[in-house]
Amino acid sequence: SPVIRTICCVGAGYVGGPTAAVIAFQNPHIRVVVVDKDPVRIRRWNSRHPPIYEPGLADIVRIARDGSRECTVEDAGVSKKIPARTPNLMFSTDISRYIGEAEIVLIAVNTPTKYRGAGAGSATDMTAFEAVTGEVAQHARPGAIIVEKSTVPCRTAQLMQETMAVHRPGVHFEILSNPEFLAAGTAVDDLLYPDRVLIGSLPTASGQRAAEALAAIYGAWVPRHRILTTNVWSSELAKLVANSMLAQRISSINSIAAICERTGADVDEVAASVGYDARIGNKFLKAGIGFGGSCFKKDILSLVYLSESLGLDEVAEYWRQVVIMNEYARDRFTHRVVKCLNNTLRGKKATMLGYAFKKNTSDTRESPALEIIKTLLEEGPREIAVFDPCCNPVVIREEIKALLGSDRVLRSEGGSLEIYNNAYDACADSNAILITTDFDEFGSRPPIMGGAAAAAAAAAKSGNASATVAATPAPAKKNGKTDPRPFETAEPSENNLLALHKYLINSATDDKISED
Ligand code: NAD
Repeated sequence: SPVIRTICCVGAGYVGGPTAAVIAFQNPHIRVVVVDKDPVRIRRWNSRHPPIYEPGLADIVRIARDGSRECTVEDAGVSKKIPARTPNLMFSTDISRYIGEAEIVLIAVNTPTKYRGAGAGSATDMTAFEAVTGEVAQHARPGAIIVEKSTVPCRTAQLMQETMAVHRPGVHFEILSNPEFLAAGTAVDDLLYPDRVLIGSLPTASGQRAAEALAAIYGAWVPRHRILTTNVWSSELAKLVANSMLAQRISSINSIAAICERTGADVDEVAASVGYDARIGNKFLKAGIGFGGSCFKKDILSLVYLSESLGLDEVAEYWRQVVIMNEYARDRFTHRVVKCLNNTLRGKKATMLGYAFKKNTSDTRESPALEIIKTLLEEGPREIAVFDPCCNPVVIREEIKALLGSDRVLRSEGGSLEIYNNAYDACADSNAILITTDFDEFGSRPPIMGGAAAAAAAAAKSGNASATVAATPAPAKKNGKTDPRPFETAEPSENNLLALHKYLINSATDDKISED
């Protein structure tokens, strides 16, 4: 297989940034360049604060992007020398140049749901992906390996092949599917210790050579038995199926929650009892306000659209129901809150703890919190207070204003929405406290970051609280591996780097022990 010296990743978003950073971190001899058309994003990747928050990400980026000096890590009394390294991760807006220099091009641009035209509401909007395919076709070197990293509809590789042939007739490119399974909030951990890496290729000799070349990149840190190679269509479809089945479990347990509330059964007890069955397992069985995030809904809808376009209407309907149940769970929760408040929010304050779609992330895309805010605002409350430990209040304000399409939402502008930067103030004098993101500090466990839960409870007691309602969305995936936040801080520091190295050494050892 070809020698890989340079990789170009197109798209510096939630997937492209962390994936490229980890590939660079684990392959110090390969230059990895992340390109994006958005200069602001690129500038932020080149700054001290990456544009997205993920535990450990800032440190990995710093080591790969800026290099590091030789250091020694003390680990359980044993000193380990970590060699110095030179920078091998870059972020740039010079898209054509770096596509042209790479042996492997990863395409990691956004593929949202189409919102108008044919298939609106379920089909995938391939505008960005197609634009990049065109650029790659024009600038890539002959024989380059082009990798679908974005989640795309099944058979996209064929469309890419055709697009490339139009732009560069007669030039051979190998196309691979390598969908990303990382989850927001645990991106670095998921990339460092993936359950599996999936690589789909054509069954030709050159297809398999290309798959081998990509497998070798991951092989720098992923055990070989976790790298699966399949045909390209299976790989494309498997990503949609994985997300659809995860979402389906959440909708399943949420449907059972509705039965529990009417019968006296306790959904947590039911979930625990069911989860002990090894065939079912206990992950993704937490009832709550439904799933959010940029992927689950759009990927199920993509599966729905695919089924419809294949004439499989019953299959389409089956999967569509997962999305319908999700919306039902969220709305049922909001209606319960309103009911708890005697069906009126006039003159009352309700506090929402959590705005991101799940804990440990600042990702707010498709967050159920926003829909809940919308519904509560329609009840004419005195105040809807929002606090999120990971999201910047300025960003929340701007986002809600843009999404609600109204200038007069915020209290400062005559509306009733207020965004706080601490939980205590957000909860003071509140009639209802809604836990809308499953951050640990909002739960009943001893708080990590200064007791927002205690603050919530205290505020609710001292104020004229009439309802405290809690609901948490689906839990973040964790394989019972390692603490996901051992080195989390906003500022990368020398100590963090040592902690990171130690973490990697320890986790690698754990992995070996559990696998033997
Ligand atoms: P994102 O919106 O965060 O990032 C996409 C980036 O692509 C943006 O920075 C955008 O500026 C850039 N871009 C768009 N068009 C471009 C062009 N023509 N040239 C250069 N850059 C361009 O998206 P994301 O969340 O990183 O998702 C990327 C893909 O990965 C999607 O297909 C998504 O379904 C998939 N995915 C996402 C996650 C997740 O947790 N977010 C997980 C697994 C897979």
